Amino acid sequence: MAARRIARRDLPDALRVAPGTRFRLRDPEASRTFGWAREEVELATRENLARLSELQYKMFADGRFSMLVVLQAIDGGGKDSTIRRVFSAFNPQGCSVTAFKVPSEEERRHDFLWRIHRRVPARGEVAVFNRSHYEDVLVVRVENLVPEAVWSRRYAQINDFESMLVANDTRVVKVFLQISREEQKRRFEERLAERSKQWKFDPGDLDKRARWDDYRVAFEAALSRCSTESAPWYAIPADRKWFRDFAVSQLLRQELERLPLRWPKPAFDARGIRIV
Ligand code: AMP
Ligand code: MG
Repeated sequence: MAARRIARRDLPDALRVAPGTRFRLRDPEASRTFGWAREEVELATRENLARLSELQYKMFADGRFSMLVVLQAIDGGGKDSTIRRVFSAFNPQGCSVTAFKVPSEEERRHDFLWRIHRRVPARGEVAVFNRSHYEDVLVVRVENLVPEAVWSRRYAQINDFESMLVANDTRVVKVFLQISREEQKRRFEERLAERSKQWKFDPGDLDKRARWDDYRVAFEAALSRCSTESAPWYAIPADRKWFRDFAVSQLLRQELERLPLRWPKPAFDARGIRIV
């Protein structure tokens, strides 16, 4: 049965994790395309990227708002390629990307949000997080890196932190790239088989894969507890890269279109100035 197509404008809503509900991750959902076919989607994505360029330019000029995009996924979920393919729309001047790794010695001597807060966007800018403070309730929870009494308080701390950012004119857009266990296997095999991808393979990722269900539960908790009205989570079906890029670009486009962006008013009368 062909799925009925969801209108482009309605996609973000369809992918939004409704605040206050219990979110469940199911593998078959990772390959959904909402009735869209690849050819039409590729055209729509190109259009979205062009529009994103314009919107970012105006946001930078306006200088009042910023956008933080949080990308989370299991290993092989496509965070890097989403950054390469979607965020290429943005002028590097005005866009930063931070990849959060295992915390350094110095970072560990601070609270878990310290290294995060330093990387949030300034007014006018876009910041992309490749992994984020959510690792502190994902890998940290599953691997028991801190006691439950510590990580269990972090959901509320994260919600407070994000709501503070939103209140200070930052759009917080949280994107979970959902791939199936089968697709992860395929991508790991590809990493092993292709010389140019071997550097991305981390044998430690196999230990995480072995704990798929524990990670699923941790992701479900993070998305259920931290999808809020002001900073909702979006669960993007990411088995098909072309659909993933379409959905992410559509979501970002609509986020930016919601901002009341305007060109700054010049402090001079342009008509009264003659360049000789
Ligand atoms: P990658 O993104 O593939 O370069 O891998 C980065 C690694 O750092 C992943 O295994 C993450 O789980 C890990 N990582 C990121 N943040 C944290 C954190 N707060 N605590 C522990 N491990 C982390
Ligand atoms: Mg990795």
